[in-house]
Amino acid sequence: MEIAELVDFLRNYDGKPIRLMEVCGSHTHAIAKHGIRGLLSDKIELLSGPGCPVCVTPTAYIDKLIELSLQENTTVVTFGDLLRVPGSEESLNAAKGRGGSVEMVYSPMDVLQLAKDNPYRIYVFAAVGFETTAPVYTLLLDQAVEQGLYNIRLLTALKTMPGAISYLCDNGARIDGFIAPGHVSAVTGADYFNDLAKKYQIPFAVSGFGAKELVVAIYGLVQMVINGDSSVKNFYTSVVEQDKNPVIEMQINKYFEAADVAWRGMGIIPGSGLLLKDDYKQFDAGSMGLDVDNKKNKACRCGEILMGKAKPSDCPLFGTACTPSNPAGACMVSEEGACNSVYLSKN
Ligand code: SF4
Repeated sequence: MEIAELVDFLRNYDGKPIRLMEVCGSHTHAIAKHGIRGLLSDKIELLSGPGCPVCVTPTAYIDKLIELSLQENTTVVTFGDLLRVPGSEESLNAAKGRGGSVEMVYSPMDVLQLAKDNPYRIYVFAAVGFETTAPVYTLLLDQAVEQGLYNIRLLTALKTMPGAISYLCDNGARIDGFIAPGHVSAVTGADYFNDLAKKYQIPFAVSGFGAKELVVAIYGLVQMVINGDSSVKNFYTSVVEQDKNPVIEMQINKYFEAADVAWRGMGIIPGSGLLLKDDYKQFDAGSMGLDVDNKKNKACRCGEILMGKAKPSDCPLFGTACTPSNPAGACMVSEEGACNSVYLSKN
């Protein structure tokens, strides 16, 4: 079928209401950027799930970064988005304003040069992300070991998707199908989601990030819902294989092991994180037990939004007390956040 026919079907769909969730921050951004919601019938709802790494980082993690940045002889190194995420009292940016040592970089590998240039200073990299970014941190550790840079640390908030998807399904999220994360699938393979599809009888569609790719995957997912097909279909075959990448898996297993970790607004999810193994604990900056999620602004509904139980427009602060330039919650900070992407698509 031509794309125009697929769009025509999705626009005029008049069957039972269907709720689909994307669990990838890049999909959240791409769906808003390409105006995909505007192509769909009112009977097809797209929800943004817990796929934005910055959005799911609990306040205790931000508080720990702030504490480290204020320690003598220690610098926190991070991507820009994390600077503005609210902790329990303030953001890393605010801590920087009162003397915290914080460096912004564009790649984790940039910390190698910083550590080499200042061997007596500790550099803590804020290692957030999912299965997609974990391999980059293993390369950083490879280099740190090879070059003897033992003044590098990671504060990890690395997470894996299956635990979070299980959590949603076990806790009353009404979801008829998942748009599986494209970047994660490129590392894990599409079969990664087979067990979840089988257990919860929910279909998964692996999708790319272009407008056409999203339309094809959403159309395919809607057809699967209509036909009661709860399998995993790969609509991103140019990038995603069925099976995992064994080299990357080996590399991740060399440094990291699964752990119970906290997700902002959702609590501790068993086995849903990656922490450094004992052999590499010398590179850890204190990542264990950062589970408290004590948001300052009680009106923020990020947790419910990440679970598909509320929409950004349901939050009383949306677009007023909370905007991308003045975020009151984590979902408004990054362009991968649900609140941010909806706000930008309307303004
Ligand atoms: Fe939280 Fe802001 Fe989103 Fe409301 S609009 S849920 S305060 S991030």
